[in-house]
Amino acid sequence: MESGILFLGTSGEISVTGKQTRSSGGIIIKTQDCQFLIDPGPGTLNKAAEYGINLRETTAVLVSHSHMNHSNDINAVIAAMTHNGLDPKGVLIAPSSVMEQNLVTPFHQKCIERIITTSPEKKIGIEDIEIQTTKTDHDDENTIGFKIYTPKFLVGYTSDTKYTKEIAEQYKKTDILIINCVYPDKTKEKQLILEDAKKLIKTAKPKLAILTHFSSKMIAAEPIYLARELQKELKTQVISAEDGMTLDPVSYSANLKQKTLNIYRKDKN
Ligand SMILES: [Zn+2]
Repeated sequence: MESGILFLGTSGEISVTGKQTRSSGGIIIKTQDCQFLIDPGPGTLNKAAEYGINLRETTAVLVSHSHMNHSNDINAVIAAMTHNGLDPKGVLIAPSSVMEQNLVTPFHQKCIERIITTSPEKKIGIEDIEIQTTKTDHDDENTIGFKIYTPKFLVGYTSDTKYTKEIAEQYKKTDILIINCVYPDKTKEKQLILEDAKKLIKTAKPKLAILTHFSSKMIAAEPIYLARELQKELKTQVISAEDGMTLDPVSYSANLKQKTLNIYRKDKN
């Protein structure tokens, strides 16, 4: 995979994570020069190996919050990427809750080159990538989402959150929006349901929306069909993630289409 998005896991609830009926290994985003890993839950190392991802090549690990499903494998990933600290490298980006709960051991904190403890609405530059953290409303009050600006595409990741209009508006202009759509309908938890995903897509208008992070109820409701229904209704491409699913983000990039148009125009003149 040269440049792409790969889902190492798509589980969003303990009933799924506990049995690993779907993995919870997080998401890989690769560009020409960088490899990012978002939310390394249980299963990250297994699935990275299974899907041919070399964790030694990780540029940065992005952890959205402290919940186990998002953070469990941080230490294992740091050990793998730095060869237990023999080759200190890479960046860890995480909210304060992750660091305050000591989810990264002192040893592993030393293995990694840089730890950036952050909060919503911050900008972080890593090589030619800019990461903007976004606001959420979740049980871990420090939870952040991400917008990752690469030279060729812009990906948004909601992480776990309740829906609000303000939260949705942060993802306007994203080419690809990854939505943690945990439940098909009503929940008392601060999580997104299908109706929220619909509102998010209507507001943000991405080129492609990806539903992931499923509960057992969501899996029983068959997200592949729910995504298809949303696509028909909203006239936006919507898919549901599967473990091991890869896609080429460049084909959904508004920027690139614009660039291609310009080149075409030049050729004509
Ligand atoms: Zn959570």
